[in-house]
Amino acid sequence: MNVTKWFGAVLLSVSLLMTAACANTNTQENNQSEKESATSETKEKNTTVETGNKSLSNIKVLATGGTIAGSSDSDTDTTGYKSGSLGIDKVIDSVPQLKDIANVTGEQVANVGSENVDNALLLKLAKRVNQLLNDDEVDGIVVTHGTDTLEETAYFLHLVVKSDKPVVVVGSMRPASAISADGPLNLYHAVKIASTKEAKGKGVMVTLNDRIASARFITKTNTTTTDSFKSLEQGYIGEVAGEVVSFYNEPTRKHTADSEFDISKLKELPQVDILYGYQNDQKYMYDAAVKAGAKGIVVAAAGNGTMSTEAIKGAKEAVKKDVVIVRSSRVGNGIVTHEKMDDELHFVSSDSLNPQKTRILLMLALTKTKDPDKIQAYFEQY
Ligand code: ASP
Repeated sequence: MNVTKWFGAVLLSVSLLMTAACANTNTQENNQSEKESATSETKEKNTTVETGNKSLSNIKVLATGGTIAGSSDSDTDTTGYKSGSLGIDKVIDSVPQLKDIANVTGEQVANVGSENVDNALLLKLAKRVNQLLNDDEVDGIVVTHGTDTLEETAYFLHLVVKSDKPVVVVGSMRPASAISADGPLNLYHAVKIASTKEAKGKGVMVTLNDRIASARFITKTNTTTTDSFKSLEQGYIGEVAGEVVSFYNEPTRKHTADSEFDISKLKELPQVDILYGYQNDQKYMYDAAVKAGAKGIVVAAAGNGTMSTEAIKGAKEAVKKDVVIVRSSRVGNGIVTHEKMDDELHFVSSDSLNPQKTRILLMLALTKTKDPDKIQAYFEQY
C-alpha cells in the first residue's frame, strides 16, 4: 500500500469510528429524552436541596416541561419544536450563572407540554411544593412550565400553597435551541426573585420578559411573542432590571398562607368544564357536560357574561341537577358583575377571573360546598 492509500484508509477508519460513537451518543440522548418526556412521575434523583454556599438561598426548581425545556433541530425554529424535550439538569446547566445567586437543585416532576397538564399533575405538583416549603432548608421554589396553561397552574398554586416563602412560575416563548432563547434569562430572573427577601408573602408569582406578576392577574395574550404575558388591568407587582429585583404592588385578594383551600388529603378534583358562548350556541352543550359528570360549568360568555336563551335553558337544567354555573367572560378583560339573574337562577359571577382561572377556583370551591352563595363569596375574596 502506498503512503496516500494508507493515509486514506486511516482517515476512513477514524471517520467510521467517530460516526459510530456519535450515533451511540444520539441514541442515548434520544432514549433519554423519550424517557424524560414520557414520564409524569417524580424522579427520585436530585431530591435533596443543595446547601453548598451558606450565604446564598436554597432554591428548588421543579420542572414540568414546556417550551423552556423545548428543543428543535433548527435554531431558527420557534414554532415547530418539541416542548418538554430536555431534562431539568440540562435546563439548569444552560445557566451556569445561577450558582452565583443561589444554591439551586432541580427535580423533574413531569416533562410535558402544558396543554397536557391535568388535575392529577396539578395535585402532585402542589403537594410537592408544600412538602418542600415545609423543609427549613428550602427558601423558595421555582416551577418551570409550558406557557399555554401556565396561568392555570400558577393560580392553582396561589390558592393551595401553605407557606409565605416565594414560589415563582416561569416559562419561555422560545425553545432552548433557538437563537435568542428567552428561557435562560427568565429562569435566572425566577431564581433571583425566589431568593429575594421582599418576595416573601406576595403569593405565587410569574416571571417572563423581565416582569413580575401575581398569579391572580397574569394571562397569556399572544400566541408566539416574547412579551405575551400581560397583567393588563391590574398591572405587574414588580420588575427585574439588570441584577435588581423591584416590587411595587401587592396582590390584595386572599392567597397561599391565608387561603382556606387544602389539597393535602385530596386524591382528585371535581370535574369542571368550560363552555364557550357564541351566536347560535345550543343547550345540548350543557346537557352533554352534565351527562358526562361535570360538577361545575364555567361559561366563557360574551361581554359582561351575557348568555343566549338556549344557553340559559341548558344552564338552568344543570342547576336543577346540582351543577354549579359560573358566568365568566370571553372578552379577556374586565369584571363580570353579579346581576339579578344570578340571584334568580342561582348562578355565580366570576368577578375579574378569566374562564380558565374561574375553572381553577370553582374546582377548589366545589371541594368545600355546592352552595352558589358561598361560592359567590369565594369569587369575591380570591
Ligand atoms: N405548548 C407549549 C406549552 O405550553 C408552549 C410553551 O411552553 O410556550 O408547553
